[in-house]
Amino acid sequence: MDAIKGINPETTPALEVAGNFDELGLAAPILAAVKEMGYKTPTPIQQQAIPLVLAGRDLMAQAQTGTGKTAAFVLPLLQKMVPHANASASPARHPVRALVLAPTRELAIQVHESVVDYNKHLPLRSTVVFGGVDMKVQQAELRGGVEILVATPGRLLDHATSRSVLLSQVQFLVLDEADRMLDMGFLPDLKRILDFLPTQRQTLLFSATFDDNIVGLARSFLQNPLKVEVARRNTSADNVEQLVHKVREEDKLDALVRVVKTRGIAQVLVFTRTKVCADKVGHRLQKRGIQAAIIHGDKAQVERFAALEGFKQGKVQYLVATDIAARGLDIVELPCVVNYELPYAPEDYVHRIGRTGRAGASGLAVSLVSPDEERLLAGIERFIKRDLKASPLPETSPSQPLRAVATVAEPAAPLAASTPAAASSAPVGSRFGRTRAEPVCALLQPPINRSEPALVAPQS
Ligand code: AMP
Repeated sequence: MDAIKGINPETTPALEVAGNFDELGLAAPILAAVKEMGYKTPTPIQQQAIPLVLAGRDLMAQAQTGTGKTAAFVLPLLQKMVPHANASASPARHPVRALVLAPTRELAIQVHESVVDYNKHLPLRSTVVFGGVDMKVQQAELRGGVEILVATPGRLLDHATSRSVLLSQVQFLVLDEADRMLDMGFLPDLKRILDFLPTQRQTLLFSATFDDNIVGLARSFLQNPLKVEVARRNTSADNVEQLVHKVREEDKLDALVRVVKTRGIAQVLVFTRTKVCADKVGHRLQKRGIQAAIIHGDKAQVERFAALEGFKQGKVQYLVATDIAARGLDIVELPCVVNYELPYAPEDYVHRIGRTGRAGASGLAVSLVSPDEERLLAGIERFIKRDLKASPLPETSPSQPLRAVATVAEPAAPLAASTPAAASSAPVGSRFGRTRAEPVCALLQPPINRSEPALVAPQS
């Protein structure tokens, strides 16, 4: 870890890196919650960040999703709030002390779920607010008093300007996935939010990638920050096997199904660049009788929840998503990510493949690259500083026909890039499938309105 170039370069205090949670100086109720989560040792970002947050430092942390970054800020912030924990019914005794800003509703909800998990033995209150749903329920909860508020920037501003929440006692501000907040154009909102906050506070900025914009943001939001880094700059996760298959655009759907079937992949997150393509791929899979759901920014909140819930319960095998919608999904043991279309921004490739191989597990990221995407591939290779050699598609075994379903709406096109199985670089079988019986994802909450029909693919 080091001080950020150009921002008050101050040397980092020499801190011992803790090898287990007991050495981190966390209170017993927090340690008990961590234990109940099944965590044995702190992840590298937790080892580095927790002592610095406890020491009161502003932090600029570069950590990809799946590194345990949420606990890296939630655990020490809970610790810092322990002296304020009280069971009083009075809202005045529960002012907002920690504010966590996240770019998407899904990430906000997921962060809040972690807060609930880690806070379960403390009487600190928390809630999450995000757009797309009625403000009234959120207002009532905010008025009741919460110490920890997780929010998307736009909705927080709505609440702050309508005075349904007071932010004048915020001691801790976390900007989670700050790069994505900037990409999504939240800078003006962030600056306005700053006006509601005390200048004396501790600020933690988390970002998967660091560029000049992020450093600029840090300059206006942070004071004497220390930089913590757990992955090399702009590199992709090491525990993710990255494969590239050269496939004609019109053969991609067949290639996708072939990869999933021949490798015995239990669940797959499929990325497209556009909402239109996500819809097209999702619907074409559904027409083939495949259990597929679609998630993108044009989908109503209830649809997004339903899609995720279907995936969480294992009812949906393919979740087709655009980058923004998929951002922040924490999917435990997600075995495989497929780039149906390569992203325009190489950073998004890193984010996408970070959805698999989380928390130390190995994962597979397959990119289906059509001739017109060669330049995007070259850009990604430069960004991650790694050559992604193309390999042939895995051969379909006779026992696993490409289409094992009854409803086949489209004829199977011959796969231009298909070649013998021996050339496949990954084993066929269950290596990338789930070994556990339970659903693969630890995602999100149930649909807001359970009376709405579930918008996942039919089961037959
Ligand atoms: P995050 O990067 O915060 O999205 O976390 C990714 C996943 O790692 C989540 O499912 C966490 O529950 C899990 N996790 C966080 N910290 C640890 C830890 N110390 N040991 C094992 N799993 C962890």
